[in-house]
Amino acid sequence: MRNMAVVEFGKPLAPVSLDRPRPGPGEVLVRVLACGVCRSDLKVAGGLMPFSASQQLPHVPGHEISGEVAEVGAGVSLTPGQRVVVHNYWGCGSCPYCVEGQENLCDALRGWVGFTTPGGFEEYLVVPQDHLLPVPPQVDPLQAATISCALGTAYHAVVSRGAVRAGETVAVVGTGGVGLYAVQVARAAGARAVAVDVREEALQAARRVGAEAAAIPAEAPSAVAGLSRGRGADVVVDCVGNRPASELALALVRKGGRVVQVGYLTDPEQYPALPTDRVVLREVQVVGSRYVTRPELARAVDLVASGAVRPVVSRVVDLGQVNEALEEVRADRVVGRVVVRVAPEL
Ligand SMILES: [Zn+2]
Ligand SMILES: [Zn+2]
Repeated sequence: MRNMAVVEFGKPLAPVSLDRPRPGPGEVLVRVLACGVCRSDLKVAGGLMPFSASQQLPHVPGHEISGEVAEVGAGVSLTPGQRVVVHNYWGCGSCPYCVEGQENLCDALRGWVGFTTPGGFEEYLVVPQDHLLPVPPQVDPLQAATISCALGTAYHAVVSRGAVRAGETVAVVGTGGVGLYAVQVARAAGARAVAVDVREEALQAARRVGAEAAAIPAEAPSAVAGLSRGRGADVVVDCVGNRPASELALALVRKGGRVVQVGYLTDPEQYPALPTDRVVLREVQVVGSRYVTRPELARAVDLVASGAVRPVVSRVVDLGQVNEALEEVRADRVVGRVVVRVAPEL
């Protein structure tokens, strides 16, 4: 089957010889229709993830998958042709985290699509049926590819970790794929959103999806002050994770507010420094936010289906052009998401 794989860390992806897998009991063969490209894919392809040293190559990345049910194993209730998105973090279901409903922190993963197990830059993928979320047919499969990672991550960050409430002011630092969704989820929750980015195109996109204000970092404090009667942001969602973004997040948040860390770096030399005086004396909560659980992702799908949240896809490339897409992401030229068209008929 057609695919693009990491054959050597730091080198362009290339096709390798792969057979179409078969679904076992409780499993579904998903025909991949489209797969979004995410900054995490650069870390996987570059051998920069914490697990990279033990990763077997070749490895097919891609974890933002929309597809359709192609074939089902025994005991599966989904029917062929059903459109789905793939929840990419396959928890064990029985460790203390899974039992508590924090499957995004599972201790004994069965699979991590595109990261440690095969991903969506290939035609077919076997997925346990309980990690597929049905998507209504009116949602374009190219746009649906942005739901399972970018929107799911934003939903968990804003609603669950940020606990954003109606009437609050939310600043989103870094309005890339996740950030543009964070703006929209914050507004869907009844909050006001301020988008902050260094790129004018990203700020324009944020205004188009409903941000009340959009500013470059130097102008962000006055933009936040203008919306919050000078108090500062109740919640800052940092989708970048580098030192300047972290410093800005701590400068924008009000006393007693929350900073939700979504973006992250893997190079210790570049870690931000935590200003402990600000955190302690202003009682700021700094919380991490990792991916999304399935109940949250189901609500995220509903937000797209109802039109409350709009995917932003600025470019679509064919599977064979995936390296171009990765370079666009690396160069920060993407507004929203670039999506790989895996099914040629789309
Ligand atoms: Zn992603
Ligand atoms: Zn678990």
